[in-house]
Amino acid sequence: MDPKPPSPPHVLIFPFPAQGHVNSMLKLTELLLPAGLHITFVISAKDHDRLSRFTTVHSRLNSYPGFRFHVIHGIYEGTMDTDEKLTLMIDSMPKVTTPVIRNLLLESKVTCFIADGIMGFSLDAAEGTGVPVMFFRTISACAFWAYFCIPDLINSGDLPFQGTNLDERIVNVKGMEEFLRRQDLPSFCRSGLNNHFFQEITTVTRRTTEAHALILNTFDNLEGSILSQIQKHIPNIYTIGPLHSHLKSRSTSQSTISSNSLFEEDKSCIDWLNQQPPKSVLYVSFGSLATITNDQLTEFWYGLVNSGKPFLWVIREDLVRENNKVPCELEEGTKERGYLVGWAPQELVLAHPAVGAFLTHNGWNSTLESVVEGVPMVSWPFFADQQMNSRFVEVVWKLGVDMKDTCDRGIVENIVKEVMEVRKDEFVNSGRRMAELAKEAVSSGGSSYRNLDRLIQDIKLMSA
Ligand code: UDP
Repeated sequence: MDPKPPSPPHVLIFPFPAQGHVNSMLKLTELLLPAGLHITFVISAKDHDRLSRFTTVHSRLNSYPGFRFHVIHGIYEGTMDTDEKLTLMIDSMPKVTTPVIRNLLLESKVTCFIADGIMGFSLDAAEGTGVPVMFFRTISACAFWAYFCIPDLINSGDLPFQGTNLDERIVNVKGMEEFLRRQDLPSFCRSGLNNHFFQEITTVTRRTTEAHALILNTFDNLEGSILSQIQKHIPNIYTIGPLHSHLKSRSTSQSTISSNSLFEEDKSCIDWLNQQPPKSVLYVSFGSLATITNDQLTEFWYGLVNSGKPFLWVIREDLVRENNKVPCELEEGTKERGYLVGWAPQELVLAHPAVGAFLTHNGWNSTLESVVEGVPMVSWPFFADQQMNSRFVEVVWKLGVDMKDTCDRGIVENIVKEVMEVRKDEFVNSGRRMAELAKEAVSSGGSSYRNLDRLIQDIKLMSA
């Protein structure tokens, strides 16, 4: 009798329960499944429910016999727009999830555990099980490196600085000596060393050295010099991004190209975009977590209307902390040139020929989605890694202007005009060049393409 064929490698994937994290780890899942890997995807009940209501991801994933969701109940489900609330979420996770993860690792013949690298307790959950843990970080390499260097910045006396003299230079993050300022460091660096989230994120980032490998949603031509700094501490890195573009490039059918939104997309904005001239529209979105005050909303609103550009603005139900009424003197300008939605099909929007620039909070997914489509950016980072991303957008990649820490109608108007009129050609050209490099990276033979193949082979070898 022939011996039973060996069972395929089984990967356990566990994202942090937030849009950007779930979205990118689902894309990683969709990239791994066609290679014959079996995958169990751990997800909160709330996110699982939203995915089934708003996306077709279930039917795509369930077409692979080796795929299943494992739903966890009891995870914090509130908003996460402050360090304190993020901390609440991170602190509540280990108690609820550790027993489940440990059980899955011990009982389900798992070959490899790909955990969101923001959750260091995954390493503890896997301890003694013999299952190698890979960390997947959903942030840029530049932000990861800044987090990693925080203990050095404390030693050098650069930290703490309690939110003062934000223009002052930081020269002790290798590879960023020429341009980094206090205000570009991750936002929680402004709140002192005792801030719990600051301590958590610093510790967990250093704990990446305990993981078997680090997977990053970036590509070598974008962040090569920073990646080589990280590699001195974490030799085994798989850069496989931009993931959404990688998925498109590997996909053989259009049906696999769709978002993994946890919110209902308002696709009517595509009809509106179809009626706008090429590169005329400013797309405005601050992602899934950021919140703004009513004063900030008003300043943006004036800036957008006064810029004279058509604008498509995502105003999430929970974006504004107070009421979000359009100032009545702006009603006409908004009616004439604006289109407001609660949640947009962002990848489609950024790929639309009518879009000329993106006013963004520079969450890493949004940044990469803009890079891939060559759309110039007006950056208004909100928190965490976004401060680093916006600095790189302006001074390293030269893809836009960083409006960081200002929210004034005149500045909004001027920077929108700077990006879309005065320096339009410059940004369109650098955007086009970077978009080509992104596409090269995920095409056959490109760096991210090769790294994904290497990741798959390495996982297969683990089960051999
Ligand atoms: N997004 C979307 N529609 C919107 C706003 C955002 O589909 O109206 C998606 C966007 O394409 C991106 C994700 O939500 O993939 C936001 O992730 P990001 O890392 O940019 O920011 P976060 O939400 O984590 O702050």
